[in-house]
Amino acid sequence: MDIRSHFPILQQQIRSQPLVYLDNAATTQKPQCVIDTVNQLYTTLNANIHRGVHYLAEECTARYEAARGTVQRFINAQQNYEIIFTAGTTAGINLVANSFGNTFVHAGDEIIVSEMEHHSNLVPWQMLCERTGAVLRMLPFDDMGELDVEKLPALLSKKTKLLCVAAVSNVLGTVNPVAKIIAMAHSAGVPVLLDGAQGLQHSAADVQQLDCDFFVFSGHKIYAPTGIGVLYAKEKWLAAMPPYQGGGDMVKTVSFAQTTYADLPYKFEAGTANYVSAIGLGAAIEFLQTLGWDYIGEREQQLLRYATQQLQGIEGLQLFGTAAHKVGILSFLLHHLHPLDVGQILDQQGIAVRTGTLCAEPVMQHFGIAGMLRASLAFYNTEHEVDALVKGLLLAKKMLRA
Ligand code: PLP
Repeated sequence: MDIRSHFPILQQQIRSQPLVYLDNAATTQKPQCVIDTVNQLYTTLNANIHRGVHYLAEECTARYEAARGTVQRFINAQQNYEIIFTAGTTAGINLVANSFGNTFVHAGDEIIVSEMEHHSNLVPWQMLCERTGAVLRMLPFDDMGELDVEKLPALLSKKTKLLCVAAVSNVLGTVNPVAKIIAMAHSAGVPVLLDGAQGLQHSAADVQQLDCDFFVFSGHKIYAPTGIGVLYAKEKWLAAMPPYQGGGDMVKTVSFAQTTYADLPYKFEAGTANYVSAIGLGAAIEFLQTLGWDYIGEREQQLLRYATQQLQGIEGLQLFGTAAHKVGILSFLLHHLHPLDVGQILDQQGIAVRTGTLCAEPVMQHFGIAGMLRASLAFYNTEHEVDALVKGLLLAKKMLRA
């Protein structure tokens, strides 16, 4: 299968060099079928959803709701109304932190997050704690980048109102033992929010099997357009939670005396939804399903093994995140060199990597460093591109006199 031919952006040259795109943890590139879907919608079908009785409005609405069904089947939610379209992972977490948090979390209660969370799954909980007087507790990770799950029972108590954890770390690549964590939390009566932003890029998620209470992800990290994401929540929570934002489409009746809210899922979808990107997300999911998780998983693991071996061969390169079970995310430092300098030299070779704190400053603090470089792999990357990265890093060493 010539997988790369599906991704037009990968065919181009950047700075007169073939593009080597290794920033997939930040966002993934889009296959032609997703681009065509978005293009076709704007060219022939665009109209606001849930409002009009005309043909375009009804067609767009039907396709938006069909995309909701596609997501439901993709993550195996029990009900389609347990799928709330959001702007992305960050928006989904903020929805839960405000709606669930303001309702069920009070002064003296506790929220547990892990030490390896993206700022998206940390700052909204800090803000909730500030608002309510609740306390944030932290589950640490060890130097391989594996969560110290044995410490979890001591953190869980009657005060714990929610545990929030990433399925996969965006810095360390660690695949966390979420089934075990969820079972431990539930045995203490604590619901769990799973941040699937990195996890769903690499492997399937079955929310019923996992039994998570909340699951969030972003479309743009799974080959779909930007500006769309999903919050899955068990019906019992969505029914008990008040709306997060008010506006059009989330109401049943409105008068100055009283407003009643729409049924699920619309209660949580105020205003004009990003229906074009939602339909694009449906197309991206169908594309992933034609590839299959077996192909994606095997190809990415193959690339990860090769890249790990090659990077470890570079003298002075230090890898962060060496968990036994990880995805194709390689975060590293090269000697004492500043990640930004190295990143810029790679950029001159047409190689795109991420540099800096990777939106996870506590992870940097764990290792006592200011930032890292990160190469993150997708199934469309090649061994040849890994070789180009190695060559670029050796050039950076030479140019910066490491
Ligand atoms: N959580 C994790 C683990 C991430 O890697 C990211 C983005 O990198 C996010 C949350 C935030 O995603 P978004 O910016 O799409 O809302």
